[in-house]
Amino acid sequence: MKNFDDIKNLYNENILPTYARYPVAFVKGAGSRLWGADGKEYIDFASGIGVNSVGHSHPKWVEAIYSQAGVLSHVSNLFYTEPGAVLAEKLCGFAGMRGLFFSNSGAESNEGVIKAARKYSFDKYGAGRHTIITLKGSFHGRLGATLKATGQEKFHKDCFAPFMEGFRYVEANDFSVLEAEAKAGDVCAFLFESIQGEGGVMPLDADYLQKAAELCEKNDWLLIADEIQTGIGRTGEWFGFQNFNIKPDAIAFAKGIAGGLPLGGFLLGEKMYKTLNPGDHGTTYGGNLVCAAAALSVLEILEPILPGVKEKGAYIREKISAMNLPQVKEIRGMGLMIGIKLEGIANTEAVAKLLEAGLVALPAGADVLRFLPPLTIGTEDIDAGLAIMEKVFKW
Ligand SMILES: *Cc1c(COP(=O)(O)O)cnc(C)c1O
Repeated sequence: MKNFDDIKNLYNENILPTYARYPVAFVKGAGSRLWGADGKEYIDFASGIGVNSVGHSHPKWVEAIYSQAGVLSHVSNLFYTEPGAVLAEKLCGFAGMRGLFFSNSGAESNEGVIKAARKYSFDKYGAGRHTIITLKGSFHGRLGATLKATGQEKFHKDCFAPFMEGFRYVEANDFSVLEAEAKAGDVCAFLFESIQGEGGVMPLDADYLQKAAELCEKNDWLLIADEIQTGIGRTGEWFGFQNFNIKPDAIAFAKGIAGGLPLGGFLLGEKMYKTLNPGDHGTTYGGNLVCAAAALSVLEILEPILPGVKEKGAYIREKISAMNLPQVKEIRGMGLMIGIKLEGIANTEAVAKLLEAGLVALPAGADVLRFLPPLTIGTEDIDAGLAIMEKVFKW
């Protein structure tokens, strides 16, 4: 097997440098633990950015993939297949939605939902009512529409212009600026993350979201939840919005759904599930049999443990709070989506130090350390991870 330097050199010679990577090459994982090419063991509080929701190499997940791959893996969406249909029925049920479209990633899921929202409005009101309101600090993806939908100027670099038109950004948790958007008469939808993930693990105010939902209803703006990070059990509910007592018209999901295989999609509710018709949208891979079988196993593994996710999150937040660390300014989030606002240390530096000490974590926003452990993590691994954090931060 190649050692770390060999792997790093292969990367540097052949892979485009779009990421500043941390100096580890992982070669193996089991549960909430990972191993590097040098044999060193790590506790995983990152789950590949919220993707490995059932940990690494879960035996049921492995078995589901093996047995499906050995029978039939892919035939395209020109034909009917069983696993995707069963999965869609489950997800529609969990979300209270009427129809689903599968894609392969988060950004693709949002791109699809943006098309569906614009078509809904076009069919009903005609051209020009196409604007999608998103929140400052949001993150919705890196593709054509989603790059512009992302409410952070640093992503809209001139070198990538021209961008897709039809997005406006408002300050989160300020209802009056959202309400004022109605004057222009060109809005079709409001797209939000119930907890902004990449932006720094910022939960929206429940009162704000409920008022926003009422405003959307009043103006026939579609309420679209980007559940790509908050969905599939991450907050202790199947979907993040379920913590806020609102009901969206559409939901985008991805990251955790297939436990490590690329799968995403969007769900449409009563109001708009008849919007898309043959030829309106498509994907070659979306919802293929192996990814769908993996996702079904993920839901089966998560169903009995979902009620414990909020407790695990509360346990982690309380333990960190009790450490009284000078660098910790605020602890926020829901379930196993945890953000720790830092001071006196850059978040990327904190992540690098934790990694060196054996804990895999993530940065978020400008100054937040983010934990997204596998939802299956046990107390022993939580305690081991937090002990590393305490040692690193108590200098
Ligand atoms: C990760 C993420 C995306 C983008 O997903 P990709 O799979 O990287 O395209 C979009 N929205 C949110 C909220 C995310 O967390």
